[in-house]
Amino acid sequence: MKAAMLYGIRDLRVEDVETPEVRAGEVLVRVRAATTCGTDLKIFQRGYVERVIKPPTVFGHEWAGDVVEVGEGVEWPRIGMRVRAGNSAPCLRCFMCQKGKYNLCENMIWLWGAYAEYIKVPAPMVRVNMQEIPFHVSYEEAAITEPLACVLHGIEEAGVNLGDSIAIIGAGPIGLLHLLTAKKMGAEKVIMVDLVEERLDLARRLGADETINAAREKVEERVRQLTSGHGADIVIEAIGRPETWEQALKLVRKGGKVLEFGGCPPGTEIHVSTELLHYDEVTVMGTFHATPLHFRKALNLIASKTINVAPLVTRKMPLEKIKEAFEILATSKNEVKIAITP
Ligand SMILES: [Zn+2]
Ligand SMILES: [Zn+2]
Repeated sequence: MKAAMLYGIRDLRVEDVETPEVRAGEVLVRVRAATTCGTDLKIFQRGYVERVIKPPTVFGHEWAGDVVEVGEGVEWPRIGMRVRAGNSAPCLRCFMCQKGKYNLCENMIWLWGAYAEYIKVPAPMVRVNMQEIPFHVSYEEAAITEPLACVLHGIEEAGVNLGDSIAIIGAGPIGLLHLLTAKKMGAEKVIMVDLVEERLDLARRLGADETINAAREKVEERVRQLTSGHGADIVIEAIGRPETWEQALKLVRKGGKVLEFGGCPPGTEIHVSTELLHYDEVTVMGTFHATPLHFRKALNLIASKTINVAPLVTRKMPLEKIKEAFEILATSKNEVKIAITP
């Protein structure tokens, strides 16, 4: 089969590799769409991302496709079924799983290799994190289940409520998913912050009430203006840089919450004033990944069009052009997600 192999920085090659052999409990899926994501772009640009992936390797983790083969003992799914799965499966037995924190599982199984003709889903993932895709949902939309699951987890932990004002730093795919979700949760005002006007345009089209171009405007001042001088009830950082993690702390109101969502490089530290936590009672939190429940919920919300993820796929490209796709993502101001079709 053909698969995209990552060898290092910007070194991505489509090669012929062995089609995986299916053993007991496993399922082989013909990938119909794999969507690009910020993590993949980081991996492409840095050549690796610590704790996530080391080259040479197949990569890509947001996908959907058709079941073409099932291993011994698999009663569900059936051949021909449209499915999505992963990109993780918690063990359900470790200390963190027993605490109900499935996203923090100590034996988490991860699945990479979506940019390929076929992907093999491990048995534990077939059991706990694979779903059938309703007929009216496209493969591209279904592939976005994974990032939406992570966003649902974040929004849940931050406790977005009816009438909240929310500032989101970063209008990339993750920031936009936060925007769509926060609006559905009943946020009164969502303020999007980004450096690129084209991204802010899209954010406005997707429902952002206010946008701030951080290249031209004083972000802190503008957020205060837009929130009657108080700061936002909830601030979400959706980029993954220490500067913006710290900036988020300056945009929140007293007693508000800051969700630091974007992952920074290992070893990154930020400064947090003790006064902010003490006198202003600001809660600063991070969230990581999602649980199988979030994945199921995310697909259901996509299927019911409660959260319309279709506008996030701004281009479709064949697997052969995957390198070009990432070059486009690295430089373009308009692209959000590219759907790779093997
Ligand atoms: Zn992703
Ligand atoms: Zn576990």
